[in-house]
Amino acid sequence: SRYAAEAQNVTVEFHGHKAVDNVSLGIAKGEVCAIIGPSGSGKSTLLRTFNHLQEPTSGQILINGRPTVPGSRKPKPADLMQLRRTVGMCFQSFNLFPHLTALENIMLAQTKALGRSKDEARERGRHLLERVGLEAKANARPSQCSGGQQQRIAIARALALDPEIMLFDEPTSALDPELGAEVLAVMRELADSGMTMLVVTHEMNFAEDVAEHLVFMADGVIVEQGDPSSVLRSPQQERTQKFLRAVNGR
Ligand code: ADP
Repeated sequence: SRYAAEAQNVTVEFHGHKAVDNVSLGIAKGEVCAIIGPSGSGKSTLLRTFNHLQEPTSGQILINGRPTVPGSRKPKPADLMQLRRTVGMCFQSFNLFPHLTALENIMLAQTKALGRSKDEARERGRHLLERVGLEAKANARPSQCSGGQQQRIAIARALALDPEIMLFDEPTSALDPELGAEVLAVMRELADSGMTMLVVTHEMNFAEDVAEHLVFMADGVIVEQGDPSSVLRSPQQERTQKFLRAVNGR
């Protein structure tokens, strides 16, 4: 398969309402795909189906061409554990353990999920903290770090499991612009390193500069998609035009 990750005809229903309505979307290996759209349009729900944090009501997810739930509707716990390692995720809220230091947070993920030794996990953790520019914060607790630093620690924690694909759900929306910029810089480097990324975002500049593919969702469907600059600068659909006018304040 030419896709690292693919949603095929995915529908997610909540109480009879289709939050995601028969969406198909493929992300090529090494590609950055950004999803934009109004609040409540199903972006986050679609993103979460890629690692089965959200079960699709129908349709399927393929990772490297293989269905995540082969031959049955409910994934087995062992399949889920494998999937959560292959498909890493970074949330709007950082979800770090408050009583653990930055390094311990990154180590715990590895010792628990991968069974790595503490020494191995520590070494990898230090390397990753350096990669996100936070080697000086190794022994700090989350409360001693800014929101931007906490998000970078959360990214390092996800990377510690050696994911093949990274999902980002509005990773900067809880942050002040300058702290968000630090996180976007880390994401940009990750993209440059060849990571396959699916990013729900309201950062239009990031979407235009970093993403190779842009998807506009509204009311649970993909309204328009394509090259980010084309979609952002000359949207073809009225709903896209209206959304972009509102975002740009014009
Ligand atoms: P977006 O990410 O585009 O803001 P969401 O995917 O979060 O949109 O939500 C899409 C729709 O699904 C919304 O109407 C939301 O209220 C609904 N929804 C999301 N998660 C749940 C849930 N766990 N239970 C019920 N409804 C949900």
